[in-house]
Amino acid sequence: MIVYNDILETIGNTPIVKVNKLPEEGKRKNIFVKLECFNPGRSVKDRIALNIIDQAEKENLLSNRSVIVESSSGNTGIGLSMVSRVRDYPNVIVIDQNCPAEKIKILKALGATIVMLTTDKKDSEDLTERRIEFVNEVKKTMENIFIPNQYENRNAPIAHYLNTGEEIVRFMEETGIRFDAIFLSVGTGGTITGVSKKIKEYDSSIKIIGVEPEGSTLFGGEKGSYLQQGPGNYFKPKNLVYDHIDQGIKVSDQDAFNMCRKFALKEGVLVGGSSGGVLYTAVEMSRQFEGNILCILPDGGEKYLDSIYSDEWLRNNGITLDKENENPIQILN
Ligand code: PMP
Repeated sequence: MIVYNDILETIGNTPIVKVNKLPEEGKRKNIFVKLECFNPGRSVKDRIALNIIDQAEKENLLSNRSVIVESSSGNTGIGLSMVSRVRDYPNVIVIDQNCPAEKIKILKALGATIVMLTTDKKDSEDLTERRIEFVNEVKKTMENIFIPNQYENRNAPIAHYLNTGEEIVRFMEETGIRFDAIFLSVGTGGTITGVSKKIKEYDSSIKIIGVEPEGSTLFGGEKGSYLQQGPGNYFKPKNLVYDHIDQGIKVSDQDAFNMCRKFALKEGVLVGGSSGGVLYTAVEMSRQFEGNILCILPDGGEKYLDSIYSDEWLRNNGITLDKENENPIQILN
């Protein structure tokens, strides 16, 4: 047993778990998942939140009068709010109307000041770019503000190079299980850029596959709206480096969300929409690989109970649930 001196010391070293029943016959392969929902803020983004603030403190970019201000689809905001409470900084998180209600409640509970941007336009307005512009405007008018800037801060991919990637290498070394391919969700690019650099240094024949929502344009294609929360962008963030990515794949909301429901019913784990997208892509492509596959699953499903895990919400948003993924059990009084 070890003593953790604060909650931040529990970030990282997330478990890698074998998937047992999900891959169907004929597609059966050894698929493993690295569950980032085991981080204390329940997502992969805790890792970058901690490393960015740690490094900023080392470089004297923060003082006891600093306010941390960041644009986020939710998870980075949660990670930064957690770090801000432990380290005693006030913090402001700029989200938009697409942020799930559960994430907003968590941000509030963690004492963040929340700014919410909205739009009247229905489809594919780039609220992420508007959030970033908003933060840059705030910077002009406020003193003592520190902007982590997860889209460009090199300490984001470095967190994944030093930790997430390193943990995967250590897993392969210690267990003797080698991965032929690693599937990762892509948004700011922080995760895939850091992990792919570490993995290719270790063994350049391991394939790195990036997954984004259909409608996101990180791997080219037409811009369109999508409901997966966290992955994807309509612009290429500086932290997304394609050098070590072998392939970029798009996944629809329909396939991603159905996979979330299927994964919950077959394996007993609730995961978010980007995880569903990564899993769906990995199962679909699994025949192309001889050996084991690893999927990095960015967050848990508890933040999406009123969306991905609500039949009504799916129906209202034009998603058809496969019959096998419906949950027929009702509460018996
Ligand atoms: N999935 C979820 C749920 C996320 O919150 C994010 C980060 N916004 C991603 C995927 C993409 O990760 P990254 O920003 O490291 O590319």
